Amino acid sequence: MDLSFSRAEESFRQQLRSWLIANLPDGWGTDAFPEFDSLADEVRFLIGWQRRLNSGGWVGVHWPRAYGGRGATVIENYILQEEFARSRAPEIIGRIGVNLVGPTLIAHGAEEQKRRYLPKILGAEEIWCQLFSEPNAGSDLAALRCRAERDGDTFIVNGQKVWTSYAQFADWGILLARTDPAAPKAKGISFLIVDMHAPGVHVRPLKQMTGSEEFNEVFLEDVRVPAANLVGAPNQGWTIAQTTLSHERGTSPRQLVIHRILLDELLSLARTMRRGDAAAATDVSIRQQLARAVIEVELFKLHNWRTLTHLIRHGKPGPESSVIKLFWSEMSQRLHDTAMELLGPFGQIDRGDARTIARGRWLHSYLYYRSASIFAGTNEIQRNILAERVLGLPRGR
Ligand SMILES: Cc1cc2nc3c(=O)[nH]c(=O)nc-3n(C[C@H](O)[C@H](O)[C@H](O)COP(=O)(O)OP(=O)(O)OC[C@H]3O[C@@H](n4cnc5c(N)ncnc54)[C@H](O)[C@@H]3O)c2cc1C
Repeated sequence: MDLSFSRAEESFRQQLRSWLIANLPDGWGTDAFPEFDSLADEVRFLIGWQRRLNSGGWVGVHWPRAYGGRGATVIENYILQEEFARSRAPEIIGRIGVNLVGPTLIAHGAEEQKRRYLPKILGAEEIWCQLFSEPNAGSDLAALRCRAERDGDTFIVNGQKVWTSYAQFADWGILLARTDPAAPKAKGISFLIVDMHAPGVHVRPLKQMTGSEEFNEVFLEDVRVPAANLVGAPNQGWTIAQTTLSHERGTSPRQLVIHRILLDELLSLARTMRRGDAAAATDVSIRQQLARAVIEVELFKLHNWRTLTHLIRHGKPGPESSVIKLFWSEMSQRLHDTAMELLGPFGQIDRGDARTIARGRWLHSYLYYRSASIFAGTNEIQRNILAERVLGLPRGR
C-alpha cells in the first residue's frame, strides 16, 4: 500500500490550505466567533460561506467539469474534506445537494434536468432536502407508502415524510413515492423532484435533544409534480435511490479530523479537570479510557485508508464501508462518554451560563453524536450488511 500523496496531490492541498487561510470568516472555530441567534441566522451565514467557497471553485470538486466541478480524483476529494475539517471550516449548507442530489442526477437525470438543477446547487442558490424516510419506513425504506398518481402530465403526491433535514430551508426535495401499488415493494417506487414551495407541501420542524430543529416532518397533500420532474423511468426509483444512498457512506475524513481535534481537547480536559487533589489524567480508569480513545482514532484512520484504497481500485466503497460507519459512530459515543465523565456536573451546564466549560460544546456534541448510530442507516442495519454481504452468513428473517 502506498501511504504517501503525490506531488500534484500535495500541491492541491497547499492551494486549498492557502485559500482557507485567506478566506475563513474571522474568528471562526474559536470562542471569539459570536453565537448565532437562531438556526435561520446560521443558515443565512452558511449560504454566504458556500457562495464564497464556490467562487473559489471549492464546491463539488468531485463533480465532472461539464457540470461545474473540477473532476477531482477520489484522493483529492478526501484531501479537501480533511483540510476543511482541519481548519474547522463551516460545513457547507448545501451538502445534500452537493453530495447526494448532484451525483444522483449526474448518473440518472435527463440532460435537461442536469442543466436546470445542477448549477444552482453549487452556489447554494437552491437548497435541497431528501424526502425518503417515513414514519413506518426508515430501515425498511422499501415499505414506504407515500403515493404519486399520474394525472396527465403531472403526478399528484400524497403522504408523509419524516426526519427530513433542513426541509424548512429547502427549495427542492428528492422524493421516493409509490407509483405502482400492485408491484412488489421495491419495484413500484419512482424518484421525483418536488418543489418545496408548491401548494400542499407542509413542513413542521421537530425539536431535537440538542435544542436545535434541523429536521422536520413533511406532509404532502395533493401536491402536483410535473411529469418532467421524474428522474429515470417510472417505477425505477429504488435503483436510483441506491446511487443516492451509496454516497451517504464511504470514507469519513471529516469525522476523522473532527475526532482528532476532539481527542486533543479530551486530553487537555483530563489534564485540567480534578479528581480529588490530583489532575483527572492521573486516575487509572480515566487513563485507560484515554488510551482507548487514542487507539480508536488511530484505527479509524486505518479503516478510512483501507476504504479509500477500495474506492480507488473499484470505483465504489463496497460493503466494508459499513465497518467505518459502525466503528466511528460507536468510537465517538465512547469518546464523548469519557468527556462527560471528566466534566462531571459541569457537563450538564449549557451555553449561556458563566460556569460552563468550553461554552457547553461538549454537552451539545455529546447529544448530537447520539444520532450518529441512527442516520445513514442504523448500526443494527450496518451489522446486518456486514453479516450477510461481508461474512456471508445466512440472511435474517
Ligand atoms: C440526524 C438525522 C438526520 C436524518 N436526516 C434524514 C433526511 O434528511 N432524510 C431522510 O429521508 N431521512 C433522514 N433521517 C432518517 C434516517 O435515515 C432513519 O432514522 C434511519 O434510517 C432509521 O429509520 P427509523 O428512524 O425509521 O428507525 P426504524 O427503522 O424504525 O428502526 C428502529 C430500531 O429498530 C432497529 N431495526 C430495524 N430494522 C432492523 C433489522 N432488520 N434488524 C435489526 N434491527 C433493526 C433499528 O436499528 C433501530 O434501532 C435522519 C435521521 C437522523 C437521526
